[in-house]
Amino acid sequence: MILRDVLLFDRGETREGSIRVDADTGQILAVGDVEADADADESVVSLPGRTVLPGLVDAHVHFSLSGEVSVEEVVGMSDAELALVEARNARRTLESGVTGVRAMGARDIDPVLKRAVDSGDVPGPRMVANCRSITITGGHGHHLGREIDGPDDARKAVREQKKQGAEFIKFMTTGGVTTPGSDPDAVAMTDEELHAIVDEAHRRGVHAATHAHGGEGVKAAVAAGVDTVEHGTFLDDEAIEMLVAEDVTLVPTLCAPYHIIRNTEMATEESARKTRDVYERHIDSFRRAVEAGVRIAGGTDAGTPFNAHGSNATEVSFMAEYGMSEAEAIRAMTETAADAIGLEGAGTLETGTHADLVVVDGDPTDDVTLLNNPEAVLKGGELVAGSLPDAE
Ligand SMILES: [Zn+2]
Repeated sequence: MILRDVLLFDRGETREGSIRVDADTGQILAVGDVEADADADESVVSLPGRTVLPGLVDAHVHFSLSGEVSVEEVVGMSDAELALVEARNARRTLESGVTGVRAMGARDIDPVLKRAVDSGDVPGPRMVANCRSITITGGHGHHLGREIDGPDDARKAVREQKKQGAEFIKFMTTGGVTTPGSDPDAVAMTDEELHAIVDEAHRRGVHAATHAHGGEGVKAAVAAGVDTVEHGTFLDDEAIEMLVAEDVTLVPTLCAPYHIIRNTEMATEESARKTRDVYERHIDSFRRAVEAGVRIAGGTDAGTPFNAHGSNATEVSFMAEYGMSEAEAIRAMTETAADAIGLEGAGTLETGTHADLVVVDGDPTDDVTLLNNPEAVLKGGELVAGSLPDAE
């Protein structure tokens, strides 16, 4: 199939051209000036006024959560119920134009879902999957996580996750917004625990991602050698300098506090109070990180309170609103996100990569909100949502 007369967005730039997709392999065969072969029985679709871009890659989603006010509602679910919830959320995510995600873990279900998606049994985006987040006893996310005490236990927890199929390790350096009694600004883990987790993750050949709100926690995690920092809500100048110097990727998840702040009357009292405090500082941290040249990957924290699966593209709008250009923001949630999470063959329109494509009506570098309503979504060259005009 050839998509032609279209704008192509790739690696932060837009140009006119065409793209050839191999339906058999699901890969991009050629990009640029692709001419239809008159003899071949190949469908050609003309898309004037539209833009084709790589499917979005969301570096931080929770398929186990569905925007509930409190995580306690999820804790009571059986594994069977949770697996079905995850499958539904994966489908919604894919249909909205997100063709790749890093799933941040819940019990041991995400690697199972990933296998079901890869085999074609369940519709969903390509996944980089984790099992349980590692947290201190009683710490943020302990309900669905693995509680640890001390560096030896931390190391053991990493090995357990790897044994269950985790493709990366997620751990909670600081407290969080949605766990009662935990302080987002305080460092929860000891330096010994942080070093043990990151060292063991790297020994096992996987990357380490940390939840961290407070600047002290970010610095402690970066000093331990972490690969990606999630949220980075209260970044001081020193933390920003360390992120740049150590080449650590920040996944700011601007969607997460936004959705709680818009629904404070329904959020739990504690969650709403914490969020009001953090929202403005979060945006300020993001702006300064962008200015300083921190590498930013788009991630929504989808599933957290009121943060629905399928509205992931709003993160691109926030990044564009608070300091990045439109093109930079799209690139952050395609190419940069794919690189940061180790999702091979995704995030660009390159020959030989997956034909994971989104078609929008117009130029998203003029208006990123077009990404909220794609005309068509293709994964591996197959139409999974929306529609394309008839072939010529
Ligand atoms: Zn999260």
